[in-house]
Amino acid sequence: MTNILFEDAKPIIKNLKEHGFEAYFVGGSVRDYLMNKDIHDIDITTSATPDEIERIFPKTVPIGKEHGTINVLFNNSSYEITTFRTEDEYVNHRKPNGVIFVRDLYEDVKRRDFTINAIAMDEAYNVIDYFNGQEDIKAENIKTVGHSVERFEEDALRIIRGLRFQSQLAFSLDNKTYEGMQSQIHNIEYLSIERIIVEFKKLFAGKNVAVSYHNLIRLNAFAYIPFFNQYDMTRINISEPLPFNLLIALIQNKLTSDNAQLGQLKISNNEKKEIQTYNDLLTSLQTINTKQQLKLLIYDYGLHYNLTILSYSETFKQNNIALPSPIIFNEQLLREVAYEIPIHDRSDIDISGKDLIDSLQQRSGPWIKEALRNIEIAIIDGQLTNYKPKILEWVKEHVKI
Ligand code: ATP
Ligand code: MG
Repeated sequence: MTNILFEDAKPIIKNLKEHGFEAYFVGGSVRDYLMNKDIHDIDITTSATPDEIERIFPKTVPIGKEHGTINVLFNNSSYEITTFRTEDEYVNHRKPNGVIFVRDLYEDVKRRDFTINAIAMDEAYNVIDYFNGQEDIKAENIKTVGHSVERFEEDALRIIRGLRFQSQLAFSLDNKTYEGMQSQIHNIEYLSIERIIVEFKKLFAGKNVAVSYHNLIRLNAFAYIPFFNQYDMTRINISEPLPFNLLIALIQNKLTSDNAQLGQLKISNNEKKEIQTYNDLLTSLQTINTKQQLKLLIYDYGLHYNLTILSYSETFKQNNIALPSPIIFNEQLLREVAYEIPIHDRSDIDISGKDLIDSLQQRSGPWIKEALRNIEIAIIDGQLTNYKPKILEWVKEHVKI
């Protein structure tokens, strides 16, 4: 059966061939296509060198030229085209800096991580499968190309990637592959945390995460990964897919009161902020007993964060993090309560700090912030109407300076 994305990309392969080069689809898109799954980005591998690719196509971006990767812009899409290559000596169990371009497809697929990822396919959907990847797809088996100990020794990220594919595809790990992981697991300490997180995000979002997480624990992988190595990860239970940032918030909420370690993950400030919000919300939720209290929490943290936490209730339950009773903490009620809240942030209050200063004839000071917070709470509680004269009346009665 044809696939629209491959059909769209066909002219690129044809063009390379017309110039005398070999070219194939390869990697995740071929794997997913053969599994009858939706495919996303298409990778093309070719015997043409980066310079030759640039000469053939009018619109290119040299995104990783020294490693052989050129982006070709064609019909409003962008395609990653990589020259057949083998890799230089591996240093410190990481991907090598240097690559060697070759003219032979076999050499290129031989350096790929797993048999299911080493299948090439031409524009007529003919498959070239030197390492029996199709058999392993059928058997639902994750197996390294070549000797697993050597392959994991060269690049320990492949261990994490293997567990990532196990989680996403719900495949089993070939015995030898698992043994190779066991023998080389310590080398993941040489990897950059950024590369690990790219794979972790996919691993923890995979449908079979319970099994992969169990394997990470069995392999003692966390002992070699910054941030995670400070916690007893056996105390964290993972039984359903969850977003990476929520995982980190869960670890923090359950195992530490210290935020300083977050820096070791080298994530963006926005991500740190999101984790902190989840963590604070989880803590606050543990004290909520009434709809009224919930209202303030929805105002302070927003409906979205509350709904996200709600949708992972099972994970929090399994980790003994108490959430409010389902009688008040359920989707319908959360949405209802959010709808009832008359203001959405402080700028919606019908009064300003300056109004307070003028009407109370006081000097500016920290009392303003406190007064505004109390006004805010009273409005959300429904005790006070968001209307300037009413607020000023209320302030004169309630605000002590
Ligand atoms: P996805 O569907 O998530 O994109 P993918 O298999 O395409 O999965 P990528 O990370 O996009 O994974 O890598 C593309 C291909 O490059 C892989 O299928 C594999 O053939 C090869 N590859 C990627 N990383 C490695 C690695 N560390 N060692 C060997 N081969 C690798
Ligand atoms: Mg890919």
